[in-house]
Amino acid sequence: MKPDATRQQLAEVVRLVKSRGLKVDISAGQFQTVIGIIGDEKKIDFDQLRSMPGVYDAIRIQAPYRLMSRSYLAQNISVKIRSDVVIGEGNPPVYIAGPCSIESYEQLYRIGKKVKEAGAHILRGGAYKPRTSVHSFQGLGVEGLRHLKRVGKDLDIPTVTEVRSEFDVKTVARYSDILQIGARNMYNQDLIEEAARQGKPILFKRGFSAQIDEFLSFAERIVAKGNKKIILCERGIIPLGGSFKSQTRFTLDLNAVPVLRRETPFPVVVDPSHGTGRRDLILPMSRSAIACGAHGLMIEVHDRPHEALSDANQAIDPAKLGELIRTCDLIYKSINESPSPFSSDLINEKDGSQ
Ligand code: PEP
Ligand code: MN
Repeated sequence: MKPDATRQQLAEVVRLVKSRGLKVDISAGQFQTVIGIIGDEKKIDFDQLRSMPGVYDAIRIQAPYRLMSRSYLAQNISVKIRSDVVIGEGNPPVYIAGPCSIESYEQLYRIGKKVKEAGAHILRGGAYKPRTSVHSFQGLGVEGLRHLKRVGKDLDIPTVTEVRSEFDVKTVARYSDILQIGARNMYNQDLIEEAARQGKPILFKRGFSAQIDEFLSFAERIVAKGNKKIILCERGIIPLGGSFKSQTRFTLDLNAVPVLRRETPFPVVVDPSHGTGRRDLILPMSRSAIACGAHGLMIEVHDRPHEALSDANQAIDPAKLGELIRTCDLIYKSINESPSPFSSDLINEKDGSQ
């Protein structure tokens, strides 16, 4: 819409779009309101839209993830978890840490206290674990969620946990501040849409065989449900044709960080724990992730790793987490000393002036 468009003119455009059976996403910026059309845009005549009073322009965005694209959303998006925990451009890195699985109230409290002291902002812990083997520990379910909520409250720290099934979404949303959708569920439309409907922040993990376009296209479903509280998470991939024996559990795709940041204004975090599967690689890969522009990290921590019921090989101890946070903060500060706002790089590039 033109900067001086009236509410009436906006309402007319919305009415026309809806009359064609399409939905709208309204993005009110400081100077301009942008109306995104959700659905089959062939049902609408763009020349007619362009000629309506108050309309500045009508543009067809081809990318399948158009509501998440920088062409549609000019401003960087930050996701606020609490007034003092904000993930996204311009904010210092946010550290999400905790055990792979919630094993008991005592275990989560003990580790939660230590990760908070080490500088973590959000406590993680799985209650519904996605496991390859039916014989492995599957998580404590609702009992685990209760521990998570109580520990979050007792330690005054926001929480995140995975929701594995669409049928558990409402329950998990009652217990956790952030809903995590795991790599194995990145393609699960029903789960994604039900999670989006709760209106809570969603930590959305990339599937380990997913192209970036696919990752963003499935994240787009969250925005299409009216939820813009999305944190994208790179957690390691299996490279195409990657049938060779690898030294690592997955290949952490750090290319994805600047690529995602270029494509979308939503925050991007990195999970080097699952991305490598190896305790000794967490520190170097965390530092690299912050250096290439990640807005945060998700790290598995256990104070007695040999006792961990899942992912014992990739858990670091709380002291190591302290070192990780201290050094990653230093890297963040050193690369953000001279202002180099990412969005202005992009504008220059689109103008062709670089
Ligand atoms: C996790 O974070 O606990 C997890 C299982 O991660 P992913 O879905 O990336 O494997
Ligand atoms: Mn794990």
